[in-house]
Amino acid sequence: MPLPTHIDPRKLALQGNVLEGTVNVGDLPRLESSVNSVCGPLEAKVQFGLDESRAKIVNGDARVSVETICQRCLDPLVVELTAEFAVQVIWSEDHINRVAANYEPWLVLDKMANLNELLEDEILLALPLVNYHVVGECTGDTFLEEVEAVGDEIVPDNPFNVLLQLKK
Ligand SMILES: [Zn+2]
Repeated sequence: MPLPTHIDPRKLALQGNVLEGTVNVGDLPRLESSVNSVCGPLEAKVQFGLDESRAKIVNGDARVSVETICQRCLDPLVVELTAEFAVQVIWSEDHINRVAANYEPWLVLDKMANLNELLEDEILLALPLVNYHVVGECTGDTFLEEVEAVGDEIVPDNPFNVLLQLKK
């Protein structure tokens, strides 16, 4: 079932509601433009509530599969992204210092908040900058061994460095 896009976090927190459902690929434009393709709807469970100081808090998890590029062999690669998050709703930037240490601030400027955007933000944070096939499934294994022999971490600063290496 699709999750509602526009929600009233104050009301949901006071009621202690749990929302569980999906966000369609078309409602995740920033994720779509960061990967080759988004393989299915994002699935999420979001629990609203109050902490001991009656601050409005939201705990949730989100997961979605995306197809991206292996930076070793440059072939497509499906990555399962999962994000767990705990945010405290604030309605003004002035209240950012009231956010407890174990929560991220979720700034909501109107009465209504956009749940899709929150979930997309969280899943984007879970997207690695570079992705690789596991060893054995990657046609670029020779390259991997060479790099390992040098003893460096296999984290190119720039994906195009890998391209240059492969061309040599
Ligand atoms: Zn690969």
